[in-house]
Amino acid sequence: MKMISFDVVVIGGGSAGMASALKAKENGVSVAIIERDDRLGGILNQCIHNGFGLNYFKKELTGPEYANLFIEKVKKSNIKVFLLSTVLKIENNFEITVINGSGLFKISAKSIVLATGCRERPAGAISLCGSRPAGVISAGSAQKFVNIYGKMIGKNIVIVGSGDIGLIMARRLRFEGANVIGVYEIMPYPSGLKRNIVQCLEDYNIPLHLSKTVVEVVGEDRVKGVYVAPVNSDYSFDLTKKELISCDAVVLSIGLVPENEVAIKFGVKQNAITGGAVVDEYLQTSIDGIFACGNGLHVHDIVDNVSKEAERAGENSAKFVKNLLSRGKSNFIKNGFGVRYVNPSNYYESDGILTINFRVSNIFKNAKIIVMGNGKIIREINKNILLPAEMESVILSKKGLRSDLEVLIKTN
Ligand SMILES: Cc1cc2nc3c(=O)[nH]c(=O)nc-3n(C[C@H](O)[C@H](O)[C@H](O)COP(=O)(O)OP(=O)(O)OC[C@H]3O[C@@H](n4cnc5c(N)ncnc54)[C@H](O)[C@@H]3O)c2cc1C
Repeated sequence: MKMISFDVVVIGGGSAGMASALKAKENGVSVAIIERDDRLGGILNQCIHNGFGLNYFKKELTGPEYANLFIEKVKKSNIKVFLLSTVLKIENNFEITVINGSGLFKISAKSIVLATGCRERPAGAISLCGSRPAGVISAGSAQKFVNIYGKMIGKNIVIVGSGDIGLIMARRLRFEGANVIGVYEIMPYPSGLKRNIVQCLEDYNIPLHLSKTVVEVVGEDRVKGVYVAPVNSDYSFDLTKKELISCDAVVLSIGLVPENEVAIKFGVKQNAITGGAVVDEYLQTSIDGIFACGNGLHVHDIVDNVSKEAERAGENSAKFVKNLLSRGKSNFIKNGFGVRYVNPSNYYESDGILTINFRVSNIFKNAKIIVMGNGKIIREINKNILLPAEMESVILSKKGLRSDLEVLIKTN
């Protein structure tokens, strides 16, 4: 089988893949991107709404505009791009098996960046009861039908879950003339960003029902309606109050999960909470030389954070190739009260800057983010509100940091 070699091979050509590849290239190594789609850009290609790039480019862009700024740089960069090429597996010595229209081929790498993005949770993930008629569709698929293929998915639409994609699709379907009956969220708080609640629902009078969810789908060939019911504080459903809502489409926005089959098969250790790899402060996984970033590492709220994180993965993969990745004594970083997970899960004793990303597990008002080390408070940040939908970051100087760390939330 034909074998081609590169210093750094990036798997996935979305925003994370492109940003990491460009940074690796800037650091003087040969780089290839392998992307299974027919173009670079990943999920951004179907996100035609604006709101991208406010942090990274300091201007408001649509998803394709944001992607194109990176695609243009990739085109000028001498990075080898393999499109319509899917990575099937990684083997020892970092031999990567790829399939495309011409068959199988192998690419060998000195370092690999995993930038494989995420996929949507399907109906089975929430054990949705009832029949299985046509018209029950994930929010991302609905977005692809409407934005890429120009096809509507229904006229009277119920949205299950208040994740950002569902909120954006509620507005998008309303723009296209649909009656968006409402968004039903099992939790007592929305799971999407505040700005999307306001700009996608409130501005268009689309009702958001918290602690209420779809308990049954009704319909034979095509969905005819759903039963919705209030959710008790122990997350059981109050079926005595269930009501039937007529609709011809149900859009599921019930979460994203990192897409990591290739990494898992190769033995990259996974984080049970994020569904992505366990990484150190260099975004290096449990296997030396394999780095991870973007939604394949943990689901991000905004793409600007994906690009910045991916640049670090790309730079560190190039440093790995050049044997420049210095590692001192390793200390753990763990999540404490109110924190669902932390990324990275360890850091190395040396000078420099440490960025810890995390999400809280509940809504906290007038709270403090606290970083503890050696029984002492190392950093304390006051927050009016902390939301599970928003990724939080703490940036620390590593000078003098010599202990395990714990990130926790304290309420007043
Ligand atoms: C509907 C939606 C709306 C959003 N709205 C906003 C917004 O308004 N503002 C904002 O800032 N952010 C928004 N985001 C978030 C942001 O777009 C994403 O976080 C970001 O684009 C993810 O980039 P990524 O590269 O990690 O993943 P992706 O873009 O998913 O890229 C991963 C790529 O890897 C490829 N791949 C996977 N496995 C393989 C394999 N085995 N072989 C080869 N290729 C592979 C995939 O084909 C894909 O192209 C939104 C996201 C979605 C889904």
